[in-house]
Order: sequence, then structure tokens, then C-alpha cells
Amino acid sequence: MKYISTRGQSPSISFEDVLVSGPAPDGGLYMPETWPTLDYRRLRGKPDLTYAMLTATILAHFSGSPDWYPVIDRVTKEAYARFSDPRITPLRELGPHRWLLELFHGPTLAFKDFALQVLAPLMNEALKRKNRRALVVAATSGDTGAAAVHALSNQSNIDLIVLHPKGRISDIQRRQMTTAKALNIRNIAVEGTFDDAQALVKALFADHAFAGKHNLAAINSINWVRIAAQAAYYASAQLALGKPDLTFSVPTGNFGDAFAGLVAKKMGVPIRRIIIATNVNDIVARAVQTGTYARGSVHATISPAMDIQVASNFERLLFEYYDRDARKLRAAMHGFERTGTLTIEAEALKKIQSDFSANQITEAETAATIKIVHQRLGLLLDPHTAVGFTATRVAGLDENVVTLATAHPAKFPEAVNMATGTKADLPAHLHWILSAPETCDFLANDVNALRAYIEKSPTTH
Ligand SMILES: *Cc1c(COP(=O)(O)O)cnc(C)c1O
Repeated sequence: MKYISTRGQSPSISFEDVLVSGPAPDGGLYMPETWPTLDYRRLRGKPDLTYAMLTATILAHFSGSPDWYPVIDRVTKEAYARFSDPRITPLRELGPHRWLLELFHGPTLAFKDFALQVLAPLMNEALKRKNRRALVVAATSGDTGAAAVHALSNQSNIDLIVLHPKGRISDIQRRQMTTAKALNIRNIAVEGTFDDAQALVKALFADHAFAGKHNLAAINSINWVRIAAQAAYYASAQLALGKPDLTFSVPTGNFGDAFAGLVAKKMGVPIRRIIIATNVNDIVARAVQTGTYARGSVHATISPAMDIQVASNFERLLFEYYDRDARKLRAAMHGFERTGTLTIEAEALKKIQSDFSANQITEAETAATIKIVHQRLGLLLDPHTAVGFTATRVAGLDENVVTLATAHPAKFPEAVNMATGTKADLPAHLHWILSAPETCDFLANDVNALRAYIEKSPTTH
């Protein structure tokens, strides 16, 4: 499979290259040149299909290269064996036509584990084949960092620097990163918001000389393989429920997860529509509702993994619905970078609105949902999942809707406790992080400070 840039001015690259790269040199994001299709009838007829096999099938399509198949089979098998629930993606019925897809049984308790547990060893393998090392620099709103630290710890050919916005992630999220012992991991708390941290990382990647010198690579959802791996749970939910017309409600920040739903649909999974559920940081929801994609300012909420304004993967969505017209997309994105506003063409918007709906949820509504679900069902929802479940109100009563439960409630004890008066227990395998020593460096919101940090940073090279 070849990968092309959404902005059309970089050469196409291979699966092996897409595994280890950041954004395309022209500032765009890589997309597969064509959509592979799943033999869905055959998958449905396989009662012994494991979750690892399903993911491996999807990734094999996106590799398009048989010499990757055995590696993909091995790493998917090993990755999902680390999950604490043997069903990997348990479905829980919440009421008529409503289900929860639990995506928090991985090592760091959020859906990010699904992709990162697979991406890390694949990336390491690609680097070994190239006889190279890479420095992964990532900004996190909390869960990506934790999942990346776990997945990349002790990978032989990778060093990791994670930037988180100081004081804007939960204690558990921070401790999951800062208690890492592996020598190839470094944490930085940045004075600023997640968008500030992400802008720093983007600036590093945009400096081609610097990015080349340090072999920078990305593991946030601009990395295609993350999106591809996440498409698997849309397929697994559909296969498990067997409903021909499933709608998914997806708590949305950087728009990687919701976009993975579109990927599943493009590959042939029968999906009716995807509900984009946001908190008050609703740039993507507004864009889908009104056609205007306009940057605002970031508000801190109880669902911090979605406290962002600019959603990187929105560019992939536009590219697809602009019928992959890279020149048009490039003009639109350059305009957005200049003015902070982008107006989606009417025809593209109509098509987007037939595949996606959107709903933005206030803090009070999120807390009310956590409280009500706890009272009625004795179940604790994390605040992100609560945003997703609340947004199912835009669906018909007889529409079959699966809400993605993106994090374990124990990751956000303050918000859950505020709404319900109780807390979810942290799974036993994570108790040690509560008392382990933390290691973290601090930086101003300044790209030159970050550059200097990397220049003088002792790595395991
Ligand atoms: C990352 C994250 C999200 C947002 O996912 P995107 O792919 O960035 O849209 C939602 N919920 C939780 C718990 C997350 O960690």
C-alpha cells in the first residue's frame, strides 16, 4: 500500500515509512492511496475469529506487503494478550438499543492502548529493518502519553519524550507517565494547554533540518497505523451485535477515533452513522453542524482528553470529502492556518452530514449523566464516556447506538466522585504508581527551550 499526503506536494511513501514518520514534509497527513475492503462475509462466518486476528487482518490490508504479515500476526497476538479482560472489547447493554463498548481494559486503562500496544513494536521493527533509531516526541492531553510510555518502554530502537500540559491532566494520568522506569522515556510538563504542547511538537516537525537530524517520529493519531488499528473495534462491535445499521457515539478530541469509524465504514463494515460527541471544546462538532471550522480558545473540563481546539485528523476528513482533491485541501488548510477559519464547501458538508452527526455536551450534563447512570444501573462512567453517552440523545429511540467507553472511571476519580460520591477502584496492577517516585522536567511554552532540551538530552542512542 502506498501512502499519499493530503496536501499533494510530498512523494508517496510505503507502509514501512508511514510507521516511522510524522506529518508529511508538505505539512499534510498521510492517507492510504486506496481503501482496502474487508471480506466481511468471511469474517462473519468465522466463529473462532479473535480480536487479535481481526486487527491483524485490517493491518495486513493496510501494509499491503506479505513480508509484514507474520510480524503483524505476532505483535497483535502479544498486544491483546496484555489486556485484563479476555473479551478485549466487552459490550454492555445500557438499555433498549443502547450499548457501551468498553475500550479500557488495556494496560493504561484507555482506548489508546489498542493502537499503541501494536504501533510500538511495529515501529520498532520498521526501524530495525532500516537500521535506524527514532526519537518520538509526543504531546498528550493525558491518555496518549500514558499509553505511549507503557508501549514504548524498552523498545530497543526508540526514545520517547512526552509533553503534557502542566496541571491539566489527572494525577493518575500524570503518575502513569512520570513513574516510568525505562531509560528511553522522558517526561516534560509544559506551562500551557494541550494545544500549546501540540503546537511545540508541530513546530519541531516543521523544522525539517531538526526533525531529520534527530530522526523525529510521531505516535499521536497523525500516525496512520493508530487509526487503522482502531478501526478494528468498530468491526468487532458490529460482528458481535450483528445489527446491520449500527450508529457509534464517539467522545472526540483530536478526531482520530471518530475517523477510525469512517475507515471501518470505508472498508465495508455496515455503519449507519457516527456521532461526534464533544465537550464544550466543540470545534469539530460546530464544523459538522454549520460548515464553519473555526478555532476558539481552550476551556479546561472534567473530560481533559478532549480539551483541544484544532483537531489534527479533521484534515483527513476534509481530504476525503473533497474527493481527495489535494490542491483544494491545501488552499483550505493554508487559509485556516492564516485566519483560524475554514468554510467547508456545501457539497462536501452535505456528504459529511450524512455520515456524521455531532453534539456538544456541557459540564453539568456530563456530571448529570454520570450520576444518573450510577443511580439507575450501578455503573460508573468516566467523564469522556459520559459525554459520548449523553450525545446519543441525537439518535432516534429505536436507532441502535454503541457508545465507545474510552477510559476507565478510575482514571478520573475527582470527576466521578463529584458526580456520584463514590470512586472506582484502580485495578490492582496499577496500585504501585500511587507511591512510586516521579521523574519529570519542566519547560516554558517555548520551542527554542524544547530544541535546546533535545540537543543536550542524554538519550539511550
Ligand atoms: C484521546 C481520548 C479521547 C479523544 O480521542 P480522539 O481520537 O483524540 O478524538 C476521548 N476519550 C479519552 C478517554 C481519550 O483518552
